Amino acid sequence: MKEVILIKNGELALKGLNRRNFEDLLIKNLKFRLAPVSKFQFTVAQSTIVAEPLQEDADMDRAGEIISRVFGIAAFSKAAATEKNFQTILKTAREYLEDDLMGASTFKVEAKRADKTFPLTSPEICTEAGGYLLNAFPHLTVDVHNPDIKVTIEIRDEYAYIHGRQIKGAGGMPTGSAGRATLLISGGIDSPVAGYMMAKRGLELIAVHFASPPYTSERAEQKVHSLLRQVAKYSGRIRLWVVPFTEIQEHIKDNCPEDIFTVVMRRMMLRVAQIIALKENAGALITGESLAQVASQTLPAIVCTDDVCSMPVFRPLIGMDKDEVIEKSRKIDTFDISVLPYEDCCTVFTPKHPKTRPTLEYVEKAEKCFDYAPMVEQAAEQARLVIIDNR
Ligand code: ATP
Ligand code: MG
Repeated sequence: MKEVILIKNGELALKGLNRRNFEDLLIKNLKFRLAPVSKFQFTVAQSTIVAEPLQEDADMDRAGEIISRVFGIAAFSKAAATEKNFQTILKTAREYLEDDLMGASTFKVEAKRADKTFPLTSPEICTEAGGYLLNAFPHLTVDVHNPDIKVTIEIRDEYAYIHGRQIKGAGGMPTGSAGRATLLISGGIDSPVAGYMMAKRGLELIAVHFASPPYTSERAEQKVHSLLRQVAKYSGRIRLWVVPFTEIQEHIKDNCPEDIFTVVMRRMMLRVAQIIALKENAGALITGESLAQVASQTLPAIVCTDDVCSMPVFRPLIGMDKDEVIEKSRKIDTFDISVLPYEDCCTVFTPKHPKTRPTLEYVEKAEKCFDYAPMVEQAAEQARLVIIDNR
């Protein structure tokens, strides 16, 4: 029996003339992500993408798992594809959905007839198939309003498709459809969630991580790789730039008043990240900041941080409480990695009494105490590329 996956687009349906482009991009992403399972052939009809494996032994459970994390998909279901002979359709429905039907008490049949030359009408298909299944599974009763399982029979051009349970997709927009942005990722809880949220809206992620050896260890960087591998399960491949940050941090420590270490450091980070973003054709930066969570994330501190950056800085967590962020990080399986106890460059030089209301004037004056511009250029120049792929 041939098994396929029927994929329902998410918001794509709303995009009018652009819809074809979005669909093409979604298919391109699906091809890439499903490549380790099998080559697939994709056809589009009536806002459904049919994914058909070209390898007979393709692991369709794994394909389903991968598809459940691809953005731009509202829902999907695995389906049996059969020839359009009604007896074959009935037999296939019984065999293919046996486990699901055995585990249910109520069901209903729904028919969709795209091929109008098919000899039975949709209501006839429902009645006949409903009767046949009741006979085959006598423990079942029909419930048209709230069935445990809905058996769908779709008569399309080439095949009839039979499917049961529909699985919710990851939602959002296809990765890349909204352009590219650069995620500043630490080893903490927040930034991976921020990356996930913006990738969901269609942004392709480039990541930047600031490392300060010997204050930060190799294991701290490996932690960032692990976090990004998890995010990449949703966003697709990520190019990570690891920036050597020790020299800049030591200069900040030696030259700036302690109460604004973190704000100055964040400004340096944004300066470097913006250089890398421009090289990578990214149009925005992303951080995991949340208003008032710590001293460097108060409104005056954010004003000081933003001032060094000409591209927009997206902060998707800005209005979220920590427990809401944690809930999301558990959902995308980054939480357990984030709480591993490796030091981050921010924690190494944390001031005891940070200023919660820094002014631009104060911060700019402090920065004038050392010649940071060439160091910023050099840090961006010396960044090391790591490709994070998790398919
Ligand atoms: P997170 O949980 O993401 O570390 P946080 O609440 O600990 O966030 P901070 O440490 O103040 O907050 O960092 C704020 C933001 O600055 C992070 O969300 C991240 O976007 C960025 N950032 C912090 N440290 C680094 C780093 N070492 N490399 C890259 N970006 C960083
Ligand atoms: Mg942090």
